[in-house]
Amino acid sequence: MSDRTALFGLDRDGLTAFFVALGEKPFRAQQLMQWIHQRGEADFDAMSNLAKPLRRRLAEVGDVHPPEVLVDQQSADGTRKWLLRVDGGNAIETVFIPEQNRGTLCVSSQVGCAMACTFCATGHQGFNRNLSTAEIIGQVWVANRALGYTPDGERIISNVVLMGMGEPLLNLPAVVPALNIMLDDMGYGLSKRRVTVSTSGIVPAIDRLKAQCDVALAVSLHAPDDALRDELVPINRKYPIADLMAACRRYMSGKSARSHITFEYVMLDGINDTPAHADRLAGLLADVPAKINLIPFNPFPGTSYRRSSPAAVSRFQELLLNRGYIVTVRRTRGDDIDAACGQLAGQVHNRLRRLDVRPEIRA
Ligand code: SAH
Ligand code: SF4
Repeated sequence: MSDRTALFGLDRDGLTAFFVALGEKPFRAQQLMQWIHQRGEADFDAMSNLAKPLRRRLAEVGDVHPPEVLVDQQSADGTRKWLLRVDGGNAIETVFIPEQNRGTLCVSSQVGCAMACTFCATGHQGFNRNLSTAEIIGQVWVANRALGYTPDGERIISNVVLMGMGEPLLNLPAVVPALNIMLDDMGYGLSKRRVTVSTSGIVPAIDRLKAQCDVALAVSLHAPDDALRDELVPINRKYPIADLMAACRRYMSGKSARSHITFEYVMLDGINDTPAHADRLAGLLADVPAKINLIPFNPFPGTSYRRSSPAAVSRFQELLLNRGYIVTVRRTRGDDIDAACGQLAGQVHNRLRRLDVRPEIRA
């Protein structure tokens, strides 16, 4: 690693301080952000509205080093997945999911994850390290450069979800500046409603997120009672459901009537998918503005869970709809390239072994 400043990793405030420290005008921060994030430019020499001596100085003290793309795969359904090399011989995955009216980029926040949820491939892999802001934004940069804009000049990436590998709320010091860059008009210009942080329920960090960068929140609930959630999402033993729901209510306080928390619920055959579970879930969410997203379980090698039957998913959905909830069922996308939720990283080893870069991978 170089000791030059990773300029991908600085939000507007950070870049402004960086330029001021160089004796430059603060507005240089905006110009540099436009080059890097809007135009996808990583070469200082191409930044024509910066004077040559400044470009030279920037190349000495800073770097805009995008992550290296190891694999770029496209699924039959249009889902696209990049396997990116990050410093320290690690690899991370980023997935783009095109839909009718939007394009969602699913971004990783850590290499591996320490939360050890029993149904998640990343959880089985264990925790390796936090990603830096530069590595989180590097994923958006790579995908945005590859995907570009529609003929009407709209960015193809309309939404970003931190639902890739890792628990974003355990990496807030790197995640918050990355969110700031996604929201910044000089960066990716996304609205707060279109950037979602997904958490397994790190209660104190939910409050910190609200204070620092009030984006949309998704909570991975997966069970309507503590006994079952303790088993599926072990962090529940530290932050039980009642505490989590209280944090959700605090997160929503003062927000517009249109906003809501998305509660994610992975459908595991015979484990959490009965009508009784649906009934308890409906009771639990009664006093939070909620949308429920049912996720058919995506299997990975070594798991003993099975996906709930389509009939069980429909019955569960119906029960919640009858209780007045908005309930969507997540369509499984990209599973032919192992890009579906919960499948990320499980196959990194194998894939890299095939690519013969395995010795550098510690994950
Ligand atoms: N750590 C964060 C964000 C990453 S996980 C979190 O847990 O919320 C993103 C979503 O994928 C979570 O809702 C997670 O529970 C879900 N998921 C994990 N493994 C899955 C699997 N095997 N099948 C379907 N969804 C899964
Ligand atoms: Fe980590 Fe989320 Fe997977 Fe749980 S579901 S192990 S929190 S990535």
